[in-house]
Amino acid sequence: MALSRHIDPDELVLKLHEASLEGKSGSHKRHAQLRGHGGVHYGSGGPYTSRYATNQEIPKFKLSEDGVGSETAYQLLKDELDLDGRPNLNLASFVGTYMESRADDLIRENISKNMSDADEYPAMMNMHTRCVSILANLWGVQKGETAIGSATTGSSEAIHLAGLAMKRRWQEKRTAAGKDTLHPNIIMGTNAQVALEKFARYFDVEARLLPVSEASEWRLDPSLVRDNIDENTIGVFVILGSTYTGHYEPVEEISKILDDYERETGHDIPIHVDGASGALVAPFTAAGAGAKWNFELPRVKSINTSGHKFGLVYAGVGWIIWRDEQYLPRHLIFELHYLGGTEESYTLNFSRPGAQIIAQYFNFIHLGFNGYRAIMENCMANARMLSKSLEATGWYTCVSSIHRKRGQKHYKPSAKAYSGGEDETSADYNPGLPVVAFRFSDEFKREYPHVKQQAVSTLLRVKQYIIPNYPLPPNEDKTEILRVVVRESMSADLLYRLIADICEVTENLMRSDQIDLEAFGGSSKGSAEAQHSRMTGDRKDSKNPMGNGVHRSVC
Ligand SMILES: *Cc1c(COP(=O)(O)O)cnc(C)c1O
Repeated sequence: MALSRHIDPDELVLKLHEASLEGKSGSHKRHAQLRGHGGVHYGSGGPYTSRYATNQEIPKFKLSEDGVGSETAYQLLKDELDLDGRPNLNLASFVGTYMESRADDLIRENISKNMSDADEYPAMMNMHTRCVSILANLWGVQKGETAIGSATTGSSEAIHLAGLAMKRRWQEKRTAAGKDTLHPNIIMGTNAQVALEKFARYFDVEARLLPVSEASEWRLDPSLVRDNIDENTIGVFVILGSTYTGHYEPVEEISKILDDYERETGHDIPIHVDGASGALVAPFTAAGAGAKWNFELPRVKSINTSGHKFGLVYAGVGWIIWRDEQYLPRHLIFELHYLGGTEESYTLNFSRPGAQIIAQYFNFIHLGFNGYRAIMENCMANARMLSKSLEATGWYTCVSSIHRKRGQKHYKPSAKAYSGGEDETSADYNPGLPVVAFRFSDEFKREYPHVKQQAVSTLLRVKQYIIPNYPLPPNEDKTEILRVVVRESMSADLLYRLIADICEVTENLMRSDQIDLEAFGGSSKGSAEAQHSRMTGDRKDSKNPMGNGVHRSVC
């Protein structure tokens, strides 16, 4: 093996760059002219390469003195953005990457409208109100209740608002009873999405993270709830659609446990349903959520969803709805006075774009219930097809269970793939999100112990797919899973190609020996930006991210 010296690519580029500037006195002046002041626009017709000559200084990390022409800036950024992944092949994300072209038109036409200018944009505000009503109805709000809610930036903001309302209601009750309000706690599973833990940390509430297990299907374990609640429990976060595996948490079962607890102790503990994905999947699919989960259960006081996930809008919109205004403490609401009247608000942001709210309303109007139903059933069918294909190879086992006959939760080596026949629907199968979480089968691991599952993710990335490989929640984190979120935009064609590509990549790995595979070892430094954030951030030692109070990030 030849002795070689480590090469720092950034240093190399810098040296070459400096060498190219040497002996070019006056070059700065020339560049200042070229940059387009005094009407000479650098990008308006010169040869492509001269628009971005390597001896031209355009600082990246501090503001340039003069700027460059808009055409140049556009081309520069466009070219750099080519390095990004393709949104449609980003199978890691729940967030929408496709909307119909008429929705794109509405977004473009309304992109300059601000949601905080209620008085200026009354038509947009009406659409916002109608979206709140549509969601409250969809989620089973009961007669006589006045649902209230708001658009948010996403589910994260929605969850923080819901959590804060629960904390305040708990405080008000405790204070009225002459009790202290020093030690609030909230219950969730260790599979909770980072937004839920963020709420606890940002709003000074103890997060009681209950361990998940294979038996609890990696979800909040109802059998642990009773022993972890007390008079200081402000609420329970129940997740409709675990981000790890797509399983729905058992809202009705937990609600019953809390009913029993209230009968015994008098403490009334509310449920907030984090329906980031599932609150816009379950209502439409034939499978539903498998049990009651929404405002039909009196204990469910609030529900959030991400409009930008299965609401089928681009990133930037979420929703929070309380079943009745009594569950939103008055003093959390701000009154804003405008020329035309008074507007009430309860959000973390003031200004925010309005276009996604219009886009959300477009989807509701355009698709209607049956449109959403067709899309969600299609996503479920595609997710089943992927799951069954993976298990048919013998190399993979699915941890998600939406492709198994309703009631059969776990993988059985002897069981043949289930089919509900020609007119099957999601109701023939276990309920859950259209998510496929899979791992190497036990046989595969026995036969190819040197093949690391991460390599599947890395090699698929070369083919442009983004499919993450990550450990299950704490306690179960010895098991790593690969995860594909099947969104509306995953066509059958793409699905077939994906299955073929996963097979090809796996076969390549099976043929490779240990030495070849070590070549996939972790990358060293990453980009200048990533290094910069590492220097300024507190992630120096991220080996044990939870141990240092740094959150893991499965999203
Ligand atoms: C995505 C997600 C969130 C966070 O939602 P954003 O809309 O990305 O802020 C919270 N909870 C669950 C279960 C999620 O899937």
